[in-house]
Amino acid sequence: MTDTERARERPGGRVRRSCPHWCVSGHGVHRGEEDWLHQGEPLMVARGVVARLCMSVNPDTGAVDGPYVLVGTTEHTLSEAEALGAALVALARTGTGPTPP
Ligand SMILES: [Zn+2]
Repeated sequence: MTDTERARERPGGRVRRSCPHWCVSGHGVHRGEEDWLHQGEPLMVARGVVARLCMSVNPDTGAVDGPYVLVGTTEHTLSEAEALGAALVALARTGTGPTPP
């Protein structure tokens, strides 16, 4: 094992060369498709609701699925997630307008 490979180990698994820069998954712990899943850091967006980047790469075929933004159990494309974020910001700004006395 090289120093670079050792530096890329994480508790519970290893980072792979094929990992996107945002992946924090520990690979090599699970088998099959579950091990192909790259996941980013979780972001708590509401009580009990976590959002995170995810993407799978089939090591045999190289087929890539994603990346997606998973919010709870709902999968959004990157553009859908950006639109959702923009809509939430617009909604919050609407609420900052003057309130009648
Ligand atoms: Zn990964």
